[in-house]
Amino acid sequence: MTVPPARDPLDAALDAARRHLAALPERPVRPVKSAHEAGAQLPPELPRGVSDPAAVIDSLADVVEGGLLLTGSPRFFGWVVGGTLPVALAADWLVSAWDSVGGVSAAGPALARLEDQAGRWLLDLLGLPALSSFGFTTGCQTAHLTALATARHELLCRRGVDVERAGLRGAPAIRVLAAEDRHVTVDIALRYLGIGSDALTPLPSDVQGRVAPEAFAQALSRDPDAPTIVLAQAGNIHSGAFEDFPRICTVAHHAGAWVHVDGAFGLWASASESLRHLTAGVGQADSWATDAHKVLNTPYDCGFVACALPEAHRAAMSGTGSYVAFDVAERDANAWVPEYSRRARAIPVWAALRALGRSGVDDLVTGLHERARQFAELLAGQPGVEVLNDVVFNQVLVRFDGSDDLTRSVIEKAQNDGVLWLGGSVWRDQVVARISVCNHATTAADVERSADALLAAARQAMDVQTAT
Ligand SMILES: *Cc1c(COP(=O)(O)O)cnc(C)c1O
Repeated sequence: MTVPPARDPLDAALDAARRHLAALPERPVRPVKSAHEAGAQLPPELPRGVSDPAAVIDSLADVVEGGLLLTGSPRFFGWVVGGTLPVALAADWLVSAWDSVGGVSAAGPALARLEDQAGRWLLDLLGLPALSSFGFTTGCQTAHLTALATARHELLCRRGVDVERAGLRGAPAIRVLAAEDRHVTVDIALRYLGIGSDALTPLPSDVQGRVAPEAFAQALSRDPDAPTIVLAQAGNIHSGAFEDFPRICTVAHHAGAWVHVDGAFGLWASASESLRHLTAGVGQADSWATDAHKVLNTPYDCGFVACALPEAHRAAMSGTGSYVAFDVAERDANAWVPEYSRRARAIPVWAALRALGRSGVDDLVTGLHERARQFAELLAGQPGVEVLNDVVFNQVLVRFDGSDDLTRSVIEKAQNDGVLWLGGSVWRDQVVARISVCNHATTAADVERSADALLAAARQAMDVQTAT
């Protein structure tokens, strides 16, 4: 009797991945399997002995099948998530296969060189100073942590405090000026850094979600000696609006403040010729945080941080102490980010950029904006439908029948229907549906189909309301 050769678990994974990706465009976007149902498919206990690896992969794919909100669907508009470019996914698989300690160049000289090139390409595409230092983080959360640690280092160093050695004992309190509607990850980073979220002075923003440079100037003049971080947004989390970077940087730098930019998705406007005006002057800031796993459509997880002061960046993040002379040719990735051992997460970025080139990235970013505009045009002016923001980038805010309840019920109906998925939020004290276009695979036909489904849900909700 001959034993059949064991199936390779890599083949099982490739098959399962292909099945998933092929079905993605036509699946209901919402999950169709609950956590409870998935749990019922799991072995009740830790198995006593070994199992066939390929069979384990098959059953893993089976358990997850249906149990995902399909954020990779071309009709997912719920949060700024983004799909995955096949070339980036393939590179990500190789990163796992190499299983290299991505943090130190000695472990992977070739990987270090690729990360270096990916970082320089990003600085170029994002309109940031070519001599900035950079790091590839798990996401924008960790990018904020890194940038704000660098700001903390520099602001306190200028006041004679070595925060890496002494901690915050005896240091003057750092103050942070930021828009009242900012991403929560900024507050979380401040908590981790011992600056505390109480250090935040929230500033009011205008009808589109921009803080006026004068508001920053006024707040700065209130306590001119306090070490201060000014947070500007490239892409308001709701409206997608961009702040006036040249003027904000001028007033902040005049007052000796550090300017950090949350550009998780919006910083990518710099890579589009037709949208570049939105980020004009952004390069005058001191640090920037963004994501590759959103607009660039690489798989999770990959964020990017850049700093205009490499020495401060390195002093804040590296384990080797302040101001050690460093040799760029021997760049160790882990000197610029919080992680020590880490996956070589810059490699999928390199592959995506290498495949798209400058024009491909421009088309990707510009395409997201065009789809968002199309969405807004299909919705605006329909009975009872109001688009609340200028669609400058990829975000569309919609309200139905001027009513919180009705807007909530339209969102719920659309989610259950499954053609698209979008989320709700609160904007200017009103419930809104928030549409984020972030997937390279979203076509004009997807937007048409989604707008139709959303308008049908709105008609149903309004009919129910009239009937009751
Ligand atoms: C998504 C997002 C973040 C957080 O990014 P993660 O990659 O999830 O850590 C921060 N700021 C803005 C504006 C975002 O959209």
